[in-house]
Amino acid sequence: MDIEKLKAAIAKNIDSSSQKLGELSQKIHDNPETAMQEHQASGWLVEFLKENGFKVEKGIAGLPTAFKASYGKAKPVIAFLAEYDALPKIGHGCGHNLIGTSAVAAGLGTKLAVDELGGSIIVFGTPAEEVDAGKATMAKKGAFDGLDAAMIVHPGGGNRVTLNALACQTLNVEFFGKAAHAAADPELGINALEAMILSFNAIDALRQHIREKARIHGIITDGGEAANIVPAHTAGTFIARAQDDAYLDDLKVRVLNCFTGAALATGARLEYHWAPERYASMLNNVTLARLFQNNFESLGHPIPIGEDEEWSGSTDVGNVSQLTPTIQPMVGIASPHILIHSTEFAEVAGTKKALHIILDSAKAMAMTAAELLANPNTLSAVRADYEKNKK
Ligand SMILES: [Zn+2]
Repeated sequence: MDIEKLKAAIAKNIDSSSQKLGELSQKIHDNPETAMQEHQASGWLVEFLKENGFKVEKGIAGLPTAFKASYGKAKPVIAFLAEYDALPKIGHGCGHNLIGTSAVAAGLGTKLAVDELGGSIIVFGTPAEEVDAGKATMAKKGAFDGLDAAMIVHPGGGNRVTLNALACQTLNVEFFGKAAHAAADPELGINALEAMILSFNAIDALRQHIREKARIHGIITDGGEAANIVPAHTAGTFIARAQDDAYLDDLKVRVLNCFTGAALATGARLEYHWAPERYASMLNNVTLARLFQNNFESLGHPIPIGEDEEWSGSTDVGNVSQLTPTIQPMVGIASPHILIHSTEFAEVAGTKKALHIILDSAKAMAMTAAELLANPNTLSAVRADYEKNKK
C-alpha cells in the first residue's frame, strides 16, 4: 500500500474506535487516581489493548500500575507512552486521561502499518509522572532498551512539537534541634526553625549567582508546634532544576551547602535525602518533530516546531528522550489562559472537543510511526539527530 493510503487507513481505523476511546478517556477522567494508585486506569487501558490483539505484561519494572503492550515482533520498534496519573484534589488537571487514551489510540492505528510493513509497536503504561518519575524507574530497569523511537502527546493551552523541559530532583530535609520554653529557657534550646529560615535565605543568596534557567524552590512542611516552644523539629521539601544533568549535579552540591551551613550556624542537626529518581532534561528530536508536524498539519492543526520556546517544568519523558529518539508534542485543547494543574483544565480534559483534538494527535503519531516503519532512511535520519543531541 502506498504510504498516503496507509495514513488514511490509519486515521479511519482510529475514527472507527472513537466512541470506545472516548468512553475510556471519560472513565479515567471521572475516576482520578494519583501516582502509583492508578489500578483502574491502567486496567482499563490494558483491557482495551488486549481486545485489540496486543500482548500485555503488567507490573513491569516492579511498578504494579506499569505495563508493556506489544504488537509485532520485529525491528524497528516504535513506542507510545501512556500516562494516566491524576493530581491530588484537582483530578485530571494535567489531562493525563487524554495522554493514556492517545497512546492506545496511536497503538491501534499503527497496527495497520505493522501488518503491512513489519516492525513492531509497544504501548508503555507509565505511572506516576507527576511525583515519582515512573519513567525514570522504568528507564533504569531497562524497560525502554532497544526502542527505535518513542512518542507521547501532552494536552495544553497551545500547539508546539518540542518541549524544553528541565532536569530536576527533589530534596527532603529535616532539622533536629532541642525544645525549650521560648521565654523561660531560650538559652537551653536549639532552634530548628531558625535553621530552616537560614536555609531559605542562603538559597535566596545563591539564586543570584546561578544560571538563568536553573530553578530552586521549596516549602516548609513542618515549622514547629507552638510559638512558646523553641522548635525542636522542622521539615521541608525543595526542588532543584537545571537545563542539563551536569549543571544539576553542580547545583545540588551548592543547594545542600545552604542547609549544612544553616545547621552549623544554629547547632541543629540536618538530615536529608535526595529523591531516588531524577527527571532528566528533554532531548528534542527535531527530525521526528518535523514528521509529526507534517502529519498533524495534514489533519488541519497548524503546529510550530517551537524549538526556541521558553523552558518549562520537568517531565520524566526526558528520561526516555535520553535513551531513544523522542518527541512530546503539546497539543492545544484549552485557551492559553487556562493553566495546566488547575480545576479549569481538568474540566476541559473531560470534553468532547478535547477528545477530538487528542485523537487527531494520536493519528499523527501513528502516521509518523508508519513513516518510520516504511522508510529505513527516515529512521536513520531520526537516529542521527539523537546521536547529535547526545553529544
Ligand atoms: Zn502532565
